[in-house]
Amino acid sequence: MCITTKCHKCGIREAVILQRHSGKLLCAECFIDDIKSRVLNEVRKYHMFNYNDRLLLALSGGKDSYTLLDTILGIHEASKLGVITISEGIQGYSRDEDVVWIMSRCRDLGIDIVRVSFKEAVGYTLFELVNMSKVSDIDVSPCTFCGMIRRRIINRYARELGYDRVLTAHNLDDESQTAFINILRADLSRLIQSHPGGPKLSDLFVRRVKPLRKVYEWESALYAYLKGFKFQEAECPYITTEPTLRAKVRDYFRRLEALEPGVLLRFLNFIDDLVSKFIDESLKIPSLPLCKLCGEPTAHNRSICKTCELLIKVGVMRWA
Ligand code: SF4
Ligand code: ZN
Ligand code: ZN
Repeated sequence: MCITTKCHKCGIREAVILQRHSGKLLCAECFIDDIKSRVLNEVRKYHMFNYNDRLLLALSGGKDSYTLLDTILGIHEASKLGVITISEGIQGYSRDEDVVWIMSRCRDLGIDIVRVSFKEAVGYTLFELVNMSKVSDIDVSPCTFCGMIRRRIINRYARELGYDRVLTAHNLDDESQTAFINILRADLSRLIQSHPGGPKLSDLFVRRVKPLRKVYEWESALYAYLKGFKFQEAECPYITTEPTLRAKVRDYFRRLEALEPGVLLRFLNFIDDLVSKFIDESLKIPSLPLCKLCGEPTAHNRSICKTCELLIKVGVMRWA
């Protein structure tokens, strides 16, 4: 005898997914609807963008990229979307096939695409920069270089191409790790800046928003899979060869979530509510000064930005 359980949401179709954090059993259709409605709720709750805004989606090509593109296409006109993909140049790690798949979907929809590499922007791949930092004996993780340069490239293109918002595909796992790391570092300023209502500290910044921030990584992967997106789950080699605090927090959070389903969602909701009490005060912070070398915003106590400083230390000073 075969016993099946009906979906807790529609009560009609057979349930195939256990959503552990809600305790619900869902059919594939209701699971997809649930993700779409949670993305829409987050976008509305934090007024992430308006109807007329031009949105630049920063996509790496992985499952989160697909899920972001697909859910945003359900709530925003394709004619107001653009896509940027960055090729970092990491030896042994190529997401080219996944990117090609997403790009062809964008082309079919008439979405503008920009592809930029680290090599074009600073003259070197990430792999080369990391090796140069080792030769120069500079203690900087590949992720620090990677994140700084990637953010810089995306912001510059978004600004120059006249986009109103940059959308990134960070999921709930990413965001809860970031919040926890900022707490461990006692960095209230970054905690406030990563809040969706946080201040925009320079007119040269295009506001970044993260519509998937309340969607678990496994949910984003399953959404992409159910929608037919075939992706490789290769991981960046630097995660294991040069483990950062984030990699350790990530492993710890995974074990915690397995023991206590929903703990990451509760944590991020709690941080959002807590940090929102500091937002009004943070809006009074003056605009950031500009770096004397590259002309981009830098921290209040700096005349040269951290990115230029690090690039100079490894022997590079070239922004395309
Ligand atoms: Fe870049 Fe680090 Fe992510 Fe690798 S793990 S892609 S180096 S940020
Ligand atoms: Zn259902
Ligand atoms: Zn600079």
